[in-house]
Amino acid sequence: MLVELLYARVISCSLYPHIFRMLPLSELSPGPFASHDELIANLRGRAKLDGYGVSIARSKPNVVYLACDKGGLNRNNWKLTEETRKRFTTSRRTNCPFSVVGRERDGEWFLEVRNNLHNHPFSSDLSAHPSHRKLDQDQIAEVEAMSLAGIPTRNILTALRKKKTSNSKVLSTARDIYNITSRNKTKSLNGRTPIQTLLYELQEAQSPCDFELDMNGHITHLFFTHEKSISLIKQYHFTVLMDCTYKTNRFKLPLLNVVGITPFYTTFFICAVFIKAEKQDDYEWALSRIAALFDENNPPKVSEFYFTLIFFFFFGFTQFFLFINSSFVNFT
Ligand SMILES: [Zn+2]
Repeated sequence: MLVELLYARVISCSLYPHIFRMLPLSELSPGPFASHDELIANLRGRAKLDGYGVSIARSKPNVVYLACDKGGLNRNNWKLTEETRKRFTTSRRTNCPFSVVGRERDGEWFLEVRNNLHNHPFSSDLSAHPSHRKLDQDQIAEVEAMSLAGIPTRNILTALRKKKTSNSKVLSTARDIYNITSRNKTKSLNGRTPIQTLLYELQEAQSPCDFELDMNGHITHLFFTHEKSISLIKQYHFTVLMDCTYKTNRFKLPLLNVVGITPFYTTFFICAVFIKAEKQDDYEWALSRIAALFDENNPPKVSEFYFTLIFFFFFGFTQFFLFINSSFVNFT
């Protein structure tokens, strides 16, 4: 074994004079493997023990060429000079010669080592290698489910790392989780823009909605509600609270939230309206849609201020604080 290692060192130094370190590698299993995926998983497992990463260089139906993820050199696509290129000194490619081939024969996969040498030190932190940061299918499904539930990326990552069911430590970064959720979102859009998807979803859910477009075809106002909300507002039409929230979307459209109050002092969702700005025209557009939700026999009107105070005198201070903190309209 020692002779083999010394021989390998001599070969490596003669063929690759830049090789500065002979790495004691784990022996790679030649197979057979039941599938292409099993072969790659086995190879990556060995690579993980030694502290390097393996990526697929090329792939054909019955052959897969694998190399070290430090193989090749970074391309200078932007035609940068050495001075301007200094910003990218974190590049990880070192033209590593490690190379193996996986071939399928009679339904089984075999590993053939072409070059088992590396020209870089082992990594003490395996999260530097994308191949070790990859999540399995179950974990990806878990990330997608959590993302759909609105859980932020950092919390998804924490949940994955805390989970003890997985055999190996999760090395993924927040960027990897973001990439998965972003890919999932793109897939769910199904070729539509986010706004087209929103309108499609509202129509699918049969939620009453209305919108207005500007001359460029961009949505400037969007109103939506739910059938249940309409029946509730017809029943509990005495008080409506409205408040605009900001920073809810990248288009910087204020979101007007409208809630009603039941006799049990609980609030219920009436509708939400995205408006272009907080100007009179925008509020007139929004209020006309909100007013249309009410029963014809109980048309809304803005009460006098002292009526509002009387209302709060009878109905408690909780609502009074709501009044202080919100734009308030009382329909009687
Ligand atoms: Zn390498």
